[in-house]
Formats: sequence, structure tokens, C-alpha cells
Amino acid sequence: MRTVDLIEKKVEGKELTREEIYYIVNGFVDGSVPDYQMSSFMMAVVFQGMTDEEVSWLTMAMMESGDILDLSDMPGFKVDKHSTGGVGDTTTLVVAPLVAACGGTVAKMSGRGLGHTGGTIDKLESIPGMNVEQDMPSFIRLVKEHGLALVGQSGNLVPADKKMYALRDVSGTVRSIPLIASSIMSKKLAAGTDGIVLDVKVGSGAFMRTVPDAVKLSETMVNIGKQLGRKVSAIITDMNQPLGLAVGNALEFREAIQVLSGIIPESDPLVDVCLLLGSHMLMMSGIAKDMEDAKGKLLGAIKDGSGLKKLREIIQAEGGDPSYISLEGIEKLCQVREKIDIFPEADGYITEMNAEAIGLAAQVLGAGRATKEDVIDHAVGLVMKKRLGDPVSVKEPLCVFYVNDTKGLEDARKFMKEAITIGKEQPEKSPMVYEVIS
Ligand code: URA
Ligand code: CA
Repeated sequence: MRTVDLIEKKVEGKELTREEIYYIVNGFVDGSVPDYQMSSFMMAVVFQGMTDEEVSWLTMAMMESGDILDLSDMPGFKVDKHSTGGVGDTTTLVVAPLVAACGGTVAKMSGRGLGHTGGTIDKLESIPGMNVEQDMPSFIRLVKEHGLALVGQSGNLVPADKKMYALRDVSGTVRSIPLIASSIMSKKLAAGTDGIVLDVKVGSGAFMRTVPDAVKLSETMVNIGKQLGRKVSAIITDMNQPLGLAVGNALEFREAIQVLSGIIPESDPLVDVCLLLGSHMLMMSGIAKDMEDAKGKLLGAIKDGSGLKKLREIIQAEGGDPSYISLEGIEKLCQVREKIDIFPEADGYITEMNAEAIGLAAQVLGAGRATKEDVIDHAVGLVMKKRLGDPVSVKEPLCVFYVNDTKGLEDARKFMKEAITIGKEQPEKSPMVYEVIS
């Protein structure tokens, strides 16, 4: 087999066989297929796409490139959730402990943030002492003892994806449904849970900019899961504005604690999406009989404080200082040199928000990384005061910047200005949830 023939076959839009796909993936991992051939192959996939069979083989080849976790000797249905990446998306810190508090078993491996999106691991590291780099035996022990683990992805889980993603990032091949689906699902499948609830974001802050694309990505991922005997549901949610009001690590952690403390109303988009994701996780786990029942259980775990208690318990088990996991405690981690009110440029209504630009504003304030090597400041970021569709006035702050280092301040102002469009007419409310695919 010659790699160049396989690239040409894909360029011509033909379907590759299982053997051919394994040949490319294994060759890329062992170094016999060089970067330039792999990037050329992936570019052909960007333009020609892949059939369902091809995507499943690609996912399996990637999954088999490293460790595959075996959670089968652990009792109960193990469930995971995954978001395709958004801004102000603090759902994991809320949903994972809530579902565990309701009797679910949540085995969750998370990533770090890159670019305008935040990562759960960075948020967890806001808590002093927290050690998210747990090895496999510790991960399994945490899940067994607490019904919950929130850890970083292990070193040797899907090395093919690490190498492919690094290349995609610099070769213009990120935005491809088969490549995104196989990247996400290879990691989720290797992590060994029985069920996966996917939160597929659509909008200005997401990889998928249109609902039809998000539906296609969701169907592709659900189908891959089915082929491998796992339960998968995908929920398509809006990312045309930050999900929560906070964007930044400790700030998002604080908002998660506020949700778990019951001080944010049920109509809030973040709460709404958390309840929906959590309900699907409980249903899949066989703990709730229908959505109504599931939602009641989750709200119960907010009301009686058992969700927050579960979060505190897992933070402590992973080395973190539990005294920060309360409304007063987390406040200490959100202290900055300066809080700066940002005002809108005109009176009117917010007719459009660019969530990506808002994520970038937080990033340049120090909350996120432009490159993997950047060090983040966990306390900084921003808190929105207004949502899409809200009336605004030049006399009222639109958001508050939390600043330690003023180096990025002017750029952050520019990003925020770019992010907000103000008009005279109040726009129609866009839905929070577009579709559920399972
Ligand atoms: N998240 C991933 O893990 N991979 C992608 O390709 C996109 C989002
Ligand atoms: Ca603008």
C-alpha cells in the first residue's frame, strides 16, 4: 500500500477500506506517514467528507492507538458528558456532581482550554491543591468511592488524536465533521463509559456555525457510538452568547457554585442546559423514568445541597482545599487588582453577540491561552451583566472585566466592542436547545 495512492483515492471522492484507514492512522502514529502526507489526507477529507463506515473505522483506528480503559468491573452504568466547546460553558462543574448526587456514576475526563474556549481542567485548577493529573488506578478508585471523578485526560489516551489535532490546528483542517466526530468519539470511547451525553454547540462561539451542520455532527457521533455498542445522545444547544454570565476560571467556578446553591433561577440558560444534560444522563443510567422525574431529582439535589456537597467531596479527594467550595469560599479566589465596568457604545438592544470574541476578550485578560505554553491567571476574566436581546444604556455596564495585568486590557476592550451589536429593535429570543438526537 502506498500512502499517496490513498490520498489520491480520497481526493477523487472514493470510499477507503478499513485496512486503508488503519494503514494511514497507524503509519502516522509510528512516523512512517509524514506530517505532509497526513495533512494532505486530512485536507482531502475536509473537501470530500467520509461515509459513515469510514468515520467509524477512523474512530476505531484512532481509539486503538493508545490505552483503552476497562471500567467493566465497576458496578453500575458509567456515564460521561462532553461539550464540543463553548464560552462560559460551566456545565460539567454543575452536572457531574448533581448526577452523582442523584446516584449516577460519572467518570469524566476533561481537557484544557485553548483559544477562546475554556476547559474544565483549568477551572478545577483554580482550587488550591487540586491535582487533576490522576493515573488510571486512581481514576477508577475515585469513581468507585465517590461515584464521580473529574480528571485530566491520561497521557496515553488516543495518541493519534493528539498528533492529528496538533496538525489540524496548523493546516486549516479543524472544521471538518468527520475529523471532529472521530476526534471526540475516539477519546470518549477509549475512556470506557457505557453512555455518553454530548452537548453539541452551535453558533458564533462554536465549531459548528449552523444548525444543519450541528445536526450532521451529532448524527455522525451518535452513529459511531451505536456501532461500538454504547448509548449516545446529542443535545444541540445555542452558543450565540456565552452560556453562563462568567467567562474565566475561578469566575466560572463561582457561577457553578451559585447554580449548585440554588441562587440562580431555573429560567437561566446555564441552569436550563445543565438540567437538560443531567436529565439525559439520569435517564440513560436508568435512574429516572422520564425527563420530568429526572429534572425533579436534579432540582432536589440543588435544593438539599447534596450536589454542592458532592463537588466538595470530589475536590477534597483530588487534593483540593474543600474550604473554597462554598459561596463565601470561592469569593476569595475571584479577588483581582481591579474590576473595570465596560459600557455599551449606544442605547438600544443587544441584537447580536459574538461569543468567540467574548471568549477572546477573557483570554487576553489572562484567563486563557493563545498557545499551549501560556500560563493562565485563574482569577481574571469577565462577567456579563447583559444577555442577547436585553435593553442596554450607555449609563449601565454591559460587563465587568476582572483584571490583574493591564497588558491585555486594550485588546480586551476591542474584542468586547466587536462582540456586541446594538440595534433599535428588540430581537426575537433564539432557542437555547435546538434538537435532541439519540
Ligand atoms: N474537540 C475535540 O476534541 N476535537 C475536535 O476536533 C474538536 C473539538
Ligand atoms: Ca460590533
